[in-house]
Amino acid sequence: MRILMIAPPGAGKGTQGALIAAHFNIPHIATGELLRDHVARQTPLGRAVQEYLDRGELVPDEIVLGMVREAMIAAKATGGGYVLDGIPRNMAQARAAYEIGLELGMTADVALHLQADDAELTRRLLARAALEHRSDDTPEVIAQRLALYYDVTAPILAWYSERGILVSVDAMRSASEVGREILVALEAMRPFLDHVPGQDRFPLDLTSLGEAFGATGSPASASE
Ligand code: ADP
Repeated sequence: MRILMIAPPGAGKGTQGALIAAHFNIPHIATGELLRDHVARQTPLGRAVQEYLDRGELVPDEIVLGMVREAMIAAKATGGGYVLDGIPRNMAQARAAYEIGLELGMTADVALHLQADDAELTRRLLARAALEHRSDDTPEVIAQRLALYYDVTAPILAWYSERGILVSVDAMRSASEVGREILVALEAMRPFLDHVPGQDRFPLDLTSLGEAFGATGSPASASE
């Protein structure tokens, strides 16, 4: 199972990425986590990226891509599956990640898109700020991260849709409901993934399922 996740900040990439990784027993490669770990350890890479993280800006592509290439090589040694969380974040990274995948024989089977509206995302990020004290969870930096998502990250979705590997889910529900829907969709697709290439598949839009089952749109119980 080879999955990449595209979602605005606060949609739950980290939570759902960890769930998918545990379920399929594959490595969870989370670029934000890897970068924050470098910052915490004050490695040369950490010192070079700290300001970008604090300002909610993208760190230079070559830094993230180098890190991800290493992690993908390690993933290949453990069976070849992965969940990429936090990359790609712009079109150049999407192309580069595809090239790395081609080179290693492990291009993504599914581009998983988590969808949620800005009010809910901001609410979740501010709630997290109170608990975790991440340097980028302040109102100004959150606004900057959301703007960047719509400007440079969201446009990549069309590319995955054309490649037939896009799966969109409604992330405006509790983490456990969203997680269950993701695992059901991935389990249902699993038998096809090895045999049916992306170009012969269709994008899958599950975003109206929440409504069909009576979701109200902004559940108080939703968490990242
Ligand atoms: P979120 O999605 O909530 O913003 P992440 O943990 O995924 O959280 O990312 C935190 C920060 O790490 C980003 O704002 C950015 O500065 C940096 N970052 C993570 N992934 C990338 C990437 N692929 N390219 C550039 N910068 C990245």
